[in-house]
Amino acid sequence: MSIKIKKRSEIDKQYKWHIDDLVKTDAIWENQYTEILKNLETFSKFKDNLNKGAENLLKCLETRDLMSEIIDKLYVYAQMKFHEDTTNDFYQGLSNKSDSLIVNFSSAISFIEPEIISLGQDTIKKYIESCPELKLYEHYFDNLIRQGEHILSPDQEQILANVQEIAASSSNIYSMLNDADMKFGLIKDENQEDVELTQGRYISFLQSSDRKVRQEAFNKYYEQYISKKYTLSAIYSSSVKSDVFFAKTRNYKTSLEQALSTYNIPIDIYTNLISTVNENLHLMHKYISIRKKALGVEELHMYDLYTPIVKNYNQKVSYDEAKKTVLEALSPLGEDYIQILEKAFNSGWIDVYENEGKHSGAYSWGAYGTHPFVLLNFDNKFGDMFTLAHEMGHAMHSYYTWDNQPFIYANYTIFLAEIASTVNETLLINYLLKQTTIPEKTKYLLNYFMEQFRGTLFRQTMFAEFEMITHDMVENGTPLTLELLNNIYHDLNAKYYGPDVIIDKEIDYEWARIPHFYTAFYVYQYATGYSAAISFSKKILENNTSDIEKYKNFLKSGSKKYSIDILKDAGLDMTTKEPIQNALSVFEDILNKFEKL
Ligand SMILES: [Zn+2]
Repeated sequence: MSIKIKKRSEIDKQYKWHIDDLVKTDAIWENQYTEILKNLETFSKFKDNLNKGAENLLKCLETRDLMSEIIDKLYVYAQMKFHEDTTNDFYQGLSNKSDSLIVNFSSAISFIEPEIISLGQDTIKKYIESCPELKLYEHYFDNLIRQGEHILSPDQEQILANVQEIAASSSNIYSMLNDADMKFGLIKDENQEDVELTQGRYISFLQSSDRKVRQEAFNKYYEQYISKKYTLSAIYSSSVKSDVFFAKTRNYKTSLEQALSTYNIPIDIYTNLISTVNENLHLMHKYISIRKKALGVEELHMYDLYTPIVKNYNQKVSYDEAKKTVLEALSPLGEDYIQILEKAFNSGWIDVYENEGKHSGAYSWGAYGTHPFVLLNFDNKFGDMFTLAHEMGHAMHSYYTWDNQPFIYANYTIFLAEIASTVNETLLINYLLKQTTIPEKTKYLLNYFMEQFRGTLFRQTMFAEFEMITHDMVENGTPLTLELLNNIYHDLNAKYYGPDVIIDKEIDYEWARIPHFYTAFYVYQYATGYSAAISFSKKILENNTSDIEKYKNFLKSGSKKYSIDILKDAGLDMTTKEPIQNALSVFEDILNKFEKL
């Protein structure tokens, strides 16, 4: 029996977002769109003129930001209308128009930042002294000029831009091979029926409680990678080489330094994460031995790492119950937080249910000057309540930031982006753990928590360590051969997972299936963000008012300072081991609790 998915028009209004809070009507959208396109001309009078005084610079930046604010609304409106029903041609068209609007706008303003950088620190300082309104942009200027040191002459920049296009080919070739060319064939599912193994289904097969299914999926999956092993190692090696080339050419000491400089993150953050996790690998080993015992297997294999070690907990949760539970779980954050959250639930921030053609998954989005919006596909599953808490974390972060920051600082960096969402999930787990008397539910919640630690803190740190080793090697003149890559990856697995798991030879090739490795030194932020969130949650649950205020100040900060400084103000010094250590001690508590059950 299948339940028919409703048409959008059949969904009750109270469960749909009030998208007209963003742009009132399609006609207004068209008007503003035409207006903006006409006004792009304005920037030509500023071009090559930003050195003509502070007032002129101010005027240019204000014009840009004002326009940018409207463009954001037009863009988000068009995309979100399209997401409501992706079969709707009209909004598909609007969404394409908004894409090209962004391209035109970016090109019209592309002169601004290079011209500011070439003004230099001293001129900027004088400008700010003579024109107090420019003070607002002080941090923005600082961030630009800081990176200016690594900008080359216009001729060299032109060459680099061309090389960049060629360098991107390793990542392009990889995704063609990985997403388009690789075919994994058929496997037998739990009902002995032939099913196609695909990239999208691989992890869900590994989660199967039928060991034969996950073993066959694992073997078949890696067969493909192994059959293309030399190609894959050549592509990855060329990607690392290009990272190293750009870092050297731009006068960075290492490619790691270059990658972290985007958000001005000190190298210590990266190395601290790796060393602190390494010092605590016995906790991961303990989790693995708990897993082995719980599954009751004689040998634990790499294909046994994803399957749940507790019975699936199938409690249904209605949307109304989920809202109520989330409100109660987040009450430690204080009256004001809860009031805004209630308002969010009751005034059209959220598009709750699935309808025909609706964009899948869940996200939080929006534009400065209105409230945030949340897209869900709520299906009354227990996990949907976690998705609600998670996305509301993002939404509340945006709400507080937009309410307290000027447009120029209204975004938060990727380094900070997953903190608020994870804090909410953690508060929810803690609340549910306290409430429940059902052992099955307790086990399910602890397992959920342990899996988050394994997947987000340990696994991403292992990835981060792999990237550091491979880039180090190339920087020191060691070519990355297939054998070397496999050895590095094998040793890392043995080190992270410990003696209770068999390091199957297939797993040596896992590096070949991780697309994130083509955006080097990115994944560590999942691990640092997760640790920061667990540290915050711990403080919030200790109910110290000043810590809770500090956390809310973090939510209000946007990008007004560098990410590390924002966290420092909120009481987390990510340059020390403490936040990671705190998170790991929470993991230890969970392991002990689970073991006792
Ligand atoms: Zn998220």
